Amino acid sequence: MAGAGQAGCAAAWDLAAGGARVLLLHGGPERPKPCAGGLTIKALRRYRFPLDAVIRERVRSVAMSRSGEPPMTAGAAAPFCVMTHRRELDALCREQARARGAGWQATAGVRAVRQDHQGVTLISAEGETLRATWLIAADGAHSPVRRALQGQPPTAPAMALEGHLARERARHYPPMTLDFQEVPGGYGWLFPKGDHINVGLYVWRRDRARLAREHLADYARRTLGSDALEEVGGYPLGTWLARRPPRCGRVLFVGDAAGSTEPLLGEGIYGALVSGQLAAGALLAGRPGDYPLLMADWGEELRQVERISRIFYGVPALGYAALSRWLAPTLLAGYAEGLTLGGTKRAWRSLKGRRHLLGSPGA
Ligand SMILES: Cc1cc2nc3c(=O)[nH]c(=O)nc-3n(C[C@H](O)[C@H](O)[C@H](O)COP(=O)(O)OP(=O)(O)OC[C@H]3O[C@@H](n4cnc5c(N)ncnc54)[C@H](O)[C@@H]3O)c2cc1C
Repeated sequence: MAGAGQAGCAAAWDLAAGGARVLLLHGGPERPKPCAGGLTIKALRRYRFPLDAVIRERVRSVAMSRSGEPPMTAGAAAPFCVMTHRRELDALCREQARARGAGWQATAGVRAVRQDHQGVTLISAEGETLRATWLIAADGAHSPVRRALQGQPPTAPAMALEGHLARERARHYPPMTLDFQEVPGGYGWLFPKGDHINVGLYVWRRDRARLAREHLADYARRTLGSDALEEVGGYPLGTWLARRPPRCGRVLFVGDAAGSTEPLLGEGIYGALVSGQLAAGALLAGRPGDYPLLMADWGEELRQVERISRIFYGVPALGYAALSRWLAPTLLAGYAEGLTLGGTKRAWRSLKGRRHLLGSPGA
């Protein structure tokens, strides 16, 4: 397994629990992975162990804004999202995978990957040769393994930039906030995390807007009264699953390396967990060739979300009007139930599902 982020740890945990021999090869950039650590309920439910120790906030409402429209707040009857600090989340997931029996090896990176009929050979940056029957590439949106085997991604990935502002430096402790006027084709966010506020900018295709550190600092200054951001960093998000099969010979791509992030808001952890667990399941069943088929539903969901994103960011006035008038409460109710965006849409189509989402007495 190359990569010990959310996808790699999810796959390693399941493989080790299923009795397979698995080595988590962790490397790449020294800096912790930039990530706002927001988990929807559907993502939370995929973990095989409790996350209570790393949950910093449970979120029931979100403040939203767009220029020319009055700011609004939408909520759900139950939490639809929890906030974690990504570094703490990764530490917990790595500890759990290792406790389950996954091996662990640090590396400075991947130098080369070769395949033959019997297995995969990976040469680490240190020059060590590692051999496995199958390789799960969980090495993120930059995926050195994918670049070695498949080249560049077929579409411009999404991009996000974030930083942390210590709570005592902020003039107020904000609710979860999405500001859609902040980035063309994206949004600015504020995620409250107890001792700090995660401040970020997102764009659904990196060719639509350039995210700059000065812009992030300016956003923090305007919204929170301080630009003393720490741990500022950006990273692409893989959103191309609908366009490229997540398998190449004896290599199964998972998480951002597979492009499994949904492009509308950039929620990537759910796709990372789903793909990691499905890849592990296919290997444990002795049917790794089924992995792309198992991923087809999520690929279809991402195709639909991509269509929605094109409309939402293409005609932002219309998109935001729909979101603020009726979409947000429905979406949040679906998210609080642990549904995906597509699942919420499907539930909305039936009278029973609609009543349930609206919490009507007849539900
Ligand atoms: C700023 C930002 C904020 C985000 N906020 C959220 C959010 O709030 N909620 C959400 O759901 N999603 C969020 N995302 C998306 C989410 O972070 C990713 O989709 C998710 O982390 C993908 O998980 P992964 O395991 O596939 O990849 P990663 O988390 O990128 O993990 C890949 C791992 O592989 C390692 N690695 C890299 N190269 C090598 C190599 N050569 N050899 C070995 N290991 C290697 C890396 O060090 C890393 O640990 C955000 C993304 C960004 C950039």
